[in-house]
Amino acid sequence: MSIYDDAVTHFGATHQKLKAAEELSELSASLIKYALAKMEGLDPNNGANVAEELADVEIMLEQLRVALPPKILCMSEIFKKAKLTKLKRAIQDQASGQYNQCAVRANINDRGLRNYQKMINVSP
Ligand SMILES: [Mg+2]
Repeated sequence: MSIYDDAVTHFGATHQKLKAAEELSELSASLIKYALAKMEGLDPNNGANVAEELADVEIMLEQLRVALPPKILCMSEIFKKAKLTKLKRAIQDQASGQYNQCAVRANINDRGLRNYQKMINVSP
């Protein structure tokens, strides 16, 4: 048994799922504070808060792999593979100049653009 198994057994799966959500929020907040500080030319703790929260999140992600049902973990792997393929394609499209520049300027992704086109009855 790993320390992640031990933690889920000791504290309970539900508790650790909630703890994971808490740590994700803390990482989110630290990234915002870090980015804002960088924009203002400040970085009072040299990214230490982000580093700490990232470590917390990585530990909680490992515990989620223990706490969540295998079916969800398998679905997550399938989503991950599809999303990585999509990301790779987006990088290739952008590098080759095939990216939709209007969507980029409007900050609309492909799905958002299709939904908007449906809403206003305009075909691509
Ligand atoms: Mg934390």
